[in-house]
Amino acid sequence: MGVLASGAVGVHGALNLRAWSDRITLLTNGSELTDQQREQLAVGGVGLDERPISGFDGPGAELRAAVFADGGELPIGALLVKTTLYQRSSPARCLGASLTEPDEMLSVEAIKVDAMSRTGVHGLYVAGDAATSVPPSVAAAMASGCLAGAAAAVQLAAGH
Ligand SMILES: Cc1cc2nc3c(=O)[nH]c(=O)nc-3n(C[C@H](O)[C@H](O)[C@H](O)COP(=O)(O)OP(=O)(O)OC[C@H]3O[C@@H](n4cnc5c(N)ncnc54)[C@H](O)[C@@H]3O)c2cc1C
Repeated sequence: MGVLASGAVGVHGALNLRAWSDRITLLTNGSELTDQQREQLAVGGVGLDERPISGFDGPGAELRAAVFADGGELPIGALLVKTTLYQRSSPARCLGASLTEPDEMLSVEAIKVDAMSRTGVHGLYVAGDAATSVPPSVAAAMASGCLAGAAAAVQLAAGH
């Protein structure tokens, strides 16, 4: 299994996947890791290939190998690609809510909220993945929903 990502995100993602397979290789597509990151992968039993990638090969929709610019190949049967999460729905943005800067680890563009899930726009609360820039989880989504509900109830009780 290959993981296509670079930097700290790539190291984190590849190490996480060791629970699924003992044959994981991080492909950085020409981007170099630090010595410390290389050491982390080695200790975690994750392979590393930093060569620029020219493509992926396989019959039909199947994946057989990563093909490198130097002509070499690495046999892989699956590939996980790190992507940037972003807000697909516009209402919060249209109402004037601010977005966070994508952070390096999660690359999440989240709607900015305070500790009580308030956006700063009067009456607008955001909970769950849409507002999180911490690792998304069901527990975190539920907790932020609970806080949003509490904050909204206080606002309504105060007649605002
Ligand atoms: C592959 C994967 C594995 C995961 N594994 C775990 C795990 O093991 N443990 C864990 O705790 N968390 C896990 N998570 C994270 C967890 O699923 C999320 O953090 C959690 O579901 C967030 O809840 P939410 O209500 O904020 O968002 P969601 O569960 O995504 O719900 C949002 C809902 O809004 C709907 N929606 C979106 N746009 C619109 C629109 N414009 N109009 C109407 N409806 C809309 C969507 O269809 C969706 O039903 C995993 C996530 C993924 C993707």
